[in-house]
Amino acid sequence: MKQYLLALALSLSVLGPAIAADATPGEGVDVKKSRLLLLPKSTVENSSAQQYAQMMRAAAQKNALNADAAQLERLRRIARTLIPPAARFNEDSKRWRWEVNLISSRSINAFCMPGGKIAFFSGIISALQLTDDEVAVIMGHEVAHALLEHGRARMSEQVLKSVGVSVAAAVLNLGHASASVLSQAADLAVTLPFSRQHETDADLVGMELAARAGFDPRAAAEVWRKMSKLGGSGKSQPPQFLSTHPAHASRIRDIELNLPRVMPLYEAALRSKGAAPR
Ligand SMILES: [Zn+2]
Repeated sequence: MKQYLLALALSLSVLGPAIAADATPGEGVDVKKSRLLLLPKSTVENSSAQQYAQMMRAAAQKNALNADAAQLERLRRIARTLIPPAARFNEDSKRWRWEVNLISSRSINAFCMPGGKIAFFSGIISALQLTDDEVAVIMGHEVAHALLEHGRARMSEQVLKSVGVSVAAAVLNLGHASASVLSQAADLAVTLPFSRQHETDADLVGMELAARAGFDPRAAAEVWRKMSKLGGSGKSQPPQFLSTHPAHASRIRDIELNLPRVMPLYEAALRSKGAAPR
């Protein structure tokens, strides 16, 4: 147990910076996976899938699930192109049972739960008037959180907080796993803010996924400009997206600093499709 706690403590001292300004153009971003991974993958994916199914059922009961067929098809088409390059960041994603659903709601939000369970709220599409490139970088950002196992890290943290380290080991023994603790953790994992490091990493990986799929990664900066305008307008509630994805002042700068790493990937993707860069 002592050794285990030591390992856990070490794993909490996380990760160097993802940004390297002197990087070689076109080699892609440099981001490491999350390391506070107390809960087994299967546990995290199963409880996330359950939580996701429950959310989709609740939306369906309100006739708010996939009501706009054209928008849904657009989201799924974009997801289909982002998923193949995702395996570069997490091999397991090849066996994930990906889902993409659209919830009718004014909420300005989107997420991807562990195991590839994606949801967009119609509010984020309409309020930000998202182009395909912008949908792709947002979806890429959300998918990146799942690929880098940020949700798994947060669920692990939540389980630790709620049950304490002494019984966390028992939770790992699935025979003793408390379903309510896990589903609560899965729930919190989509409502709690991501850390700044997780946000930066998700931005960069999201840009690379978009670029490799043939979407303009420069849209990432534009999305955050739009988001912050909306957040600062004072006319309405700040976007829920900002409460789970806290914006930091240097975000757009970090995105722009990393563009040279991914622009050549975007251009290559366009060339292979026989298109010219826009
Ligand atoms: Zn995020």
